[in-house]
Amino acid sequence: MDYYSLLGVKKGASADEIKKAYRVAAKKYHPDLVRDESKKEEAKKKFQEIQAAYDVLGDEKKRQAYDSMGHESFTRTGGGGNYGFESQGGFEDIFNDLFGRGFSSRGFSSAFGGFNSDSGEYSNAARGEDLRYSLELALEESFAGKELKIQLPRMVVCKGCSGNGKDPESKAIKCTTCNGTGRIVMQQMFLTLQQTCHDCHGRGNRQADCKQCRGKCRVSEKSTIDVVIPKGVTDGISLRMQRQGNAGIEGGPAGDLFIAVKVKKHDLFVVENANLICSFPVSLAIAVLGGVIEVPTIDGSLIEVKIPAGSENGDRIRVAGKGMPILSSLKRDVGRGDMFVQIELDVPTSLSSKEKEAWRILLEEENSPKYKKFKAKLKNYKK
Ligand SMILES: [Zn+2]
Ligand SMILES: [Zn+2]
Repeated sequence: MDYYSLLGVKKGASADEIKKAYRVAAKKYHPDLVRDESKKEEAKKKFQEIQAAYDVLGDEKKRQAYDSMGHESFTRTGGGGNYGFESQGGFEDIFNDLFGRGFSSRGFSSAFGGFNSDSGEYSNAARGEDLRYSLELALEESFAGKELKIQLPRMVVCKGCSGNGKDPESKAIKCTTCNGTGRIVMQQMFLTLQQTCHDCHGRGNRQADCKQCRGKCRVSEKSTIDVVIPKGVTDGISLRMQRQGNAGIEGGPAGDLFIAVKVKKHDLFVVENANLICSFPVSLAIAVLGGVIEVPTIDGSLIEVKIPAGSENGDRIRVAGKGMPILSSLKRDVGRGDMFVQIELDVPTSLSSKEKEAWRILLEEENSPKYKKFKAKLKNYKK
């Protein structure tokens, strides 16, 4: 397949048409944008072919040579031999198309062989590592939200060299291995292969390391970070603070900081989703006759809750809107869960003689509805 049909343009296409077709094709086959894992390999191959085609057709001189020699003989002589990702700076345009202008070109170019079309140099830019911080909260704090400062060791950009790793007082000298080109070119049969120079990492020059960071571009620092814990965070949740992790290397973006939240067990409340359960000891008399109890809430106040006559152990009485705030990614209030007062029948164990007398009277009556039903079943069973 010749380069024109690879890009899907006619032989006489204008430079603009070729550029446009290249962008469309590159977007379509960019390995990072292909969701289907099984198709990634194929897309990568196709993407490289498209790169190779544009490398030739996007360059007027190469295109002329290609047109006069024809696809077969052109590719056999290695005229279009460079299969790397370094085509005419078209790459940068593609990324800006795909990700918008705000996207760090340096961070991205590193993933693709390190060519930076801003400066026309190789870069070793890399994203900083993500960090994790464990934070323990009381339930009251998860209810109300919290603002706090945390301290953690973190890699930051070295101030001595502004993050390039080079001693600012020393001079750069040309790399002799690659003669300042940053690349080693190898000729193998008909193919020209290029590699980044290992001695200068593609920079083309060498310079003494920064004394403060010893050329690592970053230094460790105890950082203080302001953290805002939103209302309603739940146990086990991880809050992501973008770009608050370790600094990137040589202009790469910083990593993220993850705040792993643990919510401590509470004496009075158990959390179920956004609902709170409060197990409340209720006397048998109130369970039988009904009554009003005073129940604590998570915001610290007391409220009155009505216990209906004939309540049983484990019954739950709903108090609407007194649960935990519902955590939302939207930055607005989405309301609260409910509180449930769970009845825990409080059977008395030490009785006064007066109380004992009262229970004895009840014993003689023995008219509980469930027991009556049970007695009927028992009768059938005995037959
Ligand atoms: Zn430094
Ligand atoms: Zn070199």
